[in-house]
Amino acid sequence: METKDFDIIFAGSGMAGLSLAYRGIREGVWQNENILIVDKDIKNKNDRTWCFWQDESKESPFKPVFYHSWKALSFFTNEGRQIPLNNGNYAYHMIRSIDFYQFVLSFLRQSPRVTFVQAEILSIENTPDAGIVQTRDAAYKAKYVFNSMYSKPELKPWDQYFLQHFKGKMIQTKQFSGNPSEMYLMDFRTPQENGTTFFYVLPVAQDRLFVEYTIFSKSLLEDGAYDRAIEQYLAKVLGITEYQILEHEFGVIPMTDFRFSRRNGNVVNIGTAGGDTRASSGYTFTNTQKTVSKILASYRKKGHPFFGNENINEKHKLLDSTILKVLDHNEYHGHQLFSDLFTHVDAKNIFAFLDSESTAQDDLKVMLSLKAKHFIAPFVKSLFKIIS
Ligand SMILES: Cc1cc2nc3c(=O)[nH]c(=O)nc-3n(C[C@H](O)[C@H](O)[C@H](O)COP(=O)(O)OP(=O)(O)OC[C@H]3O[C@@H](n4cnc5c(N)ncnc54)[C@H](O)[C@@H]3O)c2cc1C
Repeated sequence: METKDFDIIFAGSGMAGLSLAYRGIREGVWQNENILIVDKDIKNKNDRTWCFWQDESKESPFKPVFYHSWKALSFFTNEGRQIPLNNGNYAYHMIRSIDFYQFVLSFLRQSPRVTFVQAEILSIENTPDAGIVQTRDAAYKAKYVFNSMYSKPELKPWDQYFLQHFKGKMIQTKQFSGNPSEMYLMDFRTPQENGTTFFYVLPVAQDRLFVEYTIFSKSLLEDGAYDRAIEQYLAKVLGITEYQILEHEFGVIPMTDFRFSRRNGNVVNIGTAGGDTRASSGYTFTNTQKTVSKILASYRKKGHPFFGNENINEKHKLLDSTILKVLDHNEYHGHQLFSDLFTHVDAKNIFAFLDSESTAQDDLKVMLSLKAKHFIAPFVKSLFKIIS
C-alpha cells in the first residue's frame, strides 16, 4: 500500500483537533506545512453543546461562534436553597458544535495546504522519526501526528473511573417564568439515588431553554430514565408541562484519575485522549484550549510541539483524585460536597481552581469548605498514588 507524506496529521477532527488546526494556521504558526485531517465523520451535525466559563478580560478565538452567554449564575441545593454565585469577571458561554465545525471547517477548506480524508483510522504507529496513520485504503505518514481518538484506557485497580452521563434538551415553551439572563450551573433539586445528580438550565430566550440532566456515577441508566427525570424536573421544579423538544443530545464524559500520556514519540495526544478533561468536573473545552496554546508556543519557539508543564498540574490532579475517591466512598454525598463548596467559596475562585489558575490560598479555601473527616484518608491514598 502506498504511503502518503505530510508534515502534520490530525487523527480525529473534533473539538481538540479542529481547535489546534484552526489556531495553528490562523495564528501563523503553520504557514508552509502540508496538513492532513482524517476523521470517520464529516462533522455536519450539532452533536454536542460546549459550555465553559471565561474571564471577560480574556480573548477567545471562538468568540464569533458563542451562541449565548450569561453573567448571572445560580446554584440550588438538594433542599431547594438558592445560592446566587459570585462569579466576578467570569461569564458562562455556550457554543453549539455545528457552529464551531462550520466556522473552523470553512476556514480550513480555504487553505490549499490542508487535505481532508473521511475514513476510519485503524491504527497509529510511532516510528523514530514519524507517526503513521493507517486506514483501510491508505497509510499516511507525518513528522507529527495529533491524536484525539479516545478509548477507555486499561485501568489499574486503584484508578477511579466515573462517568459523567447526561441528556440535554433544547425546549420551546411559553411557561418558563424564570429570568432568561440567569443560568443554573448546578440545580440539585432532583432525586439523588443514582449518584451525584443535577440539572443545568440554560435559557437562551424567555421561551427557549436548554435543560440537561447530569449524573456522576460508574454506570449509565436505562435510556428512558433520563427522559422521565427531565419531564419530572420540568413539571415539578420549573412548572413547565407544555413544551416542544427542538433538539436533544446524549453524552458520556470520563471523569478519571488515570494518568493519560500526552505523547508517544511523535504522536501527541490531545483533548480527552490527552488528559485534557478535568477529572473532578468533566469540563474539557478550556483545558484543551490551554494545551493548544502550549503546543503552538512550543512550535513557534522550538519548531516542535512537545511542551513541558501541563495545564492540569500535579496539585490539581491530586485534589481531583481525592474528590473522586470521596464520591466513590459515598459517605459525603456529592450534592452535599458541591453545596458546601459553593456555599463557602466564591464561584470565581472555584472557576480559577477548575481552570488550574488558582493560588495555594484559593486551593486551601476549596479544601477548608469541605468536611475534612471525609477527605483525609482519600487524600493520603491519592498522594501515595502520585509519589509511588
Ligand atoms: C454531548 C457532549 C457534551 C459535552 N459538553 C461539554 C461542555 O459543555 N463543556 C466541556 O468543557 N466539555 C464538554 N464535553 C466534553 C468534551 O469537551 C467533548 O467531548 C469534546 O468534544 C472533546 O474533544 P475531543 O477532540 O477530545 O474529542 P471529540 O470532539 O470527540 O473528537 C474526536 C474525533 O475523533 C474521531 N474519531 C474517533 N475514532 C476515530 C477513528 N477510529 N477513525 C477516525 N476518526 C475517529 C471522532 O469522529 C471525532 O470527530 C462534552 C462531551 C459530550 C459528548
